[in-house]
Amino acid sequence: MTKRAYNFNAGPAALPLEVLQQAQEEFVDYRGIGMSIMEISHRSKEYEQVNDEAQSLVKELLGVPDGYQVLFLQGGASTQFAMIPMNFLKPGQAGGYVLTGSWADKAYKEAKGIGETYVAATGEASGFRRMPALGEIDVQPEAAYIHLTSNETIAGSQFADFPDTGNVPLIGDFSSDILCRPTDVSKFSLIYAGAQKNLGPSGVTVVIVRDELVERANKNLPTMLRFDTHAQSKSLYNTPPVYSVYIANLVLKWIKATGGLEAMERINRDKTKLIYDAIDGSGGFYRGLVEPDSRSLMNITFALGSEELEAQFIKESAQQGFVGLKGHRDVGHMRASTYNAVPYESCKALADFMNDFRRRNG
Ligand code: PMP
Repeated sequence: MTKRAYNFNAGPAALPLEVLQQAQEEFVDYRGIGMSIMEISHRSKEYEQVNDEAQSLVKELLGVPDGYQVLFLQGGASTQFAMIPMNFLKPGQAGGYVLTGSWADKAYKEAKGIGETYVAATGEASGFRRMPALGEIDVQPEAAYIHLTSNETIAGSQFADFPDTGNVPLIGDFSSDILCRPTDVSKFSLIYAGAQKNLGPSGVTVVIVRDELVERANKNLPTMLRFDTHAQSKSLYNTPPVYSVYIANLVLKWIKATGGLEAMERINRDKTKLIYDAIDGSGGFYRGLVEPDSRSLMNITFALGSEELEAQFIKESAQQGFVGLKGHRDVGHMRASTYNAVPYESCKALADFMNDFRRRNG
């Protein structure tokens, strides 16, 4: 059997073993065509089938209502930070940003350089230890949109629910938690996510967008930065990231075969409970960095009592096959990313290691 690491990387991150194995099987000769999927035209029937299937699986798994399109774009979620204000901010209309941590802040700063913005809510006073309550979000009726970050990958916080913004379009960055649980897409006019955490390898960004928003977008933009360019061409305006979409399609099929998003949520809750219990039951030896009601199902952040102890934790865990537990350089401490493809067994092993480490060092 293949020896696999306990992979808690924050992104790019773990992919399901079954997906890697199927990709390996099809790598040199894709379904008897004598070539790999990377060596043929993106306008071939083989690739078109992958593209279509991946788009319909996103719709099916998330229950995307009629009137939305699923797009596969390039440039990462970071390009969406710019494309969204470029397309949807008009003179005299501001975009409201919900500031919840580093990623929301990046989106906000990018938009500020492009058009009018305002801060719709900020968690700064709490040191970004909690997500704002939905009632704290200032939805100005004239706003161009409200932008929020569903899951803050670095802080380790996640919205439990989403606001109802009425006629004001709601836009969500779901880069680090798309497909981790059932989500009411109808609350959003646009959802975007870089693939490299829950959906596949880097190189493709999924955008789920309401047709009506695309129709209203600014047209005076470079072709590749217009949402309507991609919406009108089924994401085949130019050469797409073929291999990334192919792997994403395998991941989507794996999610469906595992039982869809209800199953994903149940498994993710069971997985993260093991680790949060190890934190909460440690008598203060481990300290969670986020208030319990804002804790993430995807990125678990915690601290130990001293830098020396944290260095020791990293060293010993690495010796036992754990990867990716060091916190982001901006916040330090520990972070365990428990994306969909991280197996329950890895989380159990981590919780056991944490309990053992505490007994030896507490
Ligand atoms: N938003 C969030 C929430 C993220 O976690 C990341 C990447 N870690 C990004 C945006 C930026 O994504 P990309 O690297 O695809 O531009």
